[in-house]
Amino acid sequence: MGLLDWFKRQPRTAITAERWASTLAGLPFLDEKEFSTAGGLELSDEICISIAAQGCLPILKLGLSAYRDWLGIVVYADQFVVPRQIADENGVVHEYDDVLSGEAWEGGPLIISWHDVQLAGAGYNVVIHEFAHKLDMLNGEADGMPALHSGLTEEEWIAVFSAAYQDFCRRLDDGEETLIDPYAGDDPAEFFAVFSESFFELPEVVDREYPALYALLKRYYLQDPLARLKRQRSGVTP
Ligand SMILES: [Zn+2]
Repeated sequence: MGLLDWFKRQPRTAITAERWASTLAGLPFLDEKEFSTAGGLELSDEICISIAAQGCLPILKLGLSAYRDWLGIVVYADQFVVPRQIADENGVVHEYDDVLSGEAWEGGPLIISWHDVQLAGAGYNVVIHEFAHKLDMLNGEADGMPALHSGLTEEEWIAVFSAAYQDFCRRLDDGEETLIDPYAGDDPAEFFAVFSESFFELPEVVDREYPALYALLKRYYLQDPLARLKRQRSGVTP
């Protein structure tokens, strides 16, 4: 299926201005990245364009160079199993299997489940999540602080980000059920990835619960998904 056929097959109402811009931004991305599949999945234009369009939404303003340090995207049909080893305090190594919908390797490819890519919406977006990890890794180990552009300082990032992270962890410790995926409480890297996902998918929730963090992410991504949502709701074409 060619690119134009694919566009024609998409429901018209689903193509918002930012979705369209993101799809167009994804075209050079398709040239730069190498897609491959695993587990017998057949690669299609639909898979590549869908991942490119969602993956390019976060970097619409940052530019494609924000994804410069890596090349490959490996797509599985569904969730995949990663064998892990962990040593306990006695030095005994335990082996277990992790079932994942996506994983970003530092200095390596991004791995993703096509089934989960298609589940995007209502706060969940595995593509944005994994690509956010890649942004985080651009300045070294994933630690919740991506490479900052000149509009932001490390001090203000740490201040706002840490306060929000600590508050979110406290709410989880209190047994609160959160609208934002509790996986964000795992560590600062997951907090950044999950809140990036929510920033684009649930901007109202992030802005209401963590206005300072919303403002910080808005300045980092140079986008305002909440304003965009309000414009769409009022019927004004962005
Ligand atoms: Zn993650």
